[in-house]
Amino acid sequence: MIVTDLDGTLLGDDEALATFRDWVGGRRDRLRLVYASGRSVAAVCELIAAGRLPEPDAVITGVGTEIHVAGTGGASGWRPWPGWLERFGNWSADHVREALAGYPGLEAQDPVHQTRRKASYDTLQLEERDLAAIRQALARRGIPARLVYSAGRFLDVIPPGAGKGPAARFLADAWSLPAHDVLAFGDSGNDADLLSAGFRGTLVANALPELDAVVDGDVYRSPLAFAAGVLDGIRFWSER
Ligand SMILES: [Mg+2]
Repeated sequence: MIVTDLDGTLLGDDEALATFRDWVGGRRDRLRLVYASGRSVAAVCELIAAGRLPEPDAVITGVGTEIHVAGTGGASGWRPWPGWLERFGNWSADHVREALAGYPGLEAQDPVHQTRRKASYDTLQLEERDLAAIRQALARRGIPARLVYSAGRFLDVIPPGAGKGPAARFLADAWSLPAHDVLAFGDSGNDADLLSAGFRGTLVANALPELDAVVDGDVYRSPLAFAAGVLDGIRFWSER
């Protein structure tokens, strides 16, 4: 199983991406391909429909709040993976958006980036104590939450238990794959849990220091960027 972030990981070098497409094309029946992105399912679907990305088996979107089984006929042909969304009960990002309206330094992103289970903000450099204060403000309103901060400017508030790492683990379990049969790839803070989930991880060369700082030693740091780094990571782990 290959589970890879899109922006800044698989996307960023079109030539290397074409090589990745060919590589996957020759092995499609022998691997599970999963995209794990902060984007919406509709946006990921568009990239696939445009022929830029190989058809996956499943997509993890909204920073691990949603999992869809890939189907045909565009986003309408994709169906939610049974049992994932149900884990979050009645947790609603609307409550987060209400609670954090007007919170200093947080600017809500455009509605197109907001979903039922993810409240997203643009923000300037946040320190750990700022994140703790936001978590406290939510807790005071009775809202448990996971804060995912990346690229020094994007804050996603998601339900506890959501995230790219937990979602990828859920899929690996569904397909009865042990963690060492899963290769994971990422470049920024919202990939931290994916690369700390016990999988065989690879950081592409352009990975941000924020990710490098939080993942443990058991990852491969490729000297190559974007999709070339993904292919290099596949080679590296295949030889182990
Ligand atoms: Mg990324």
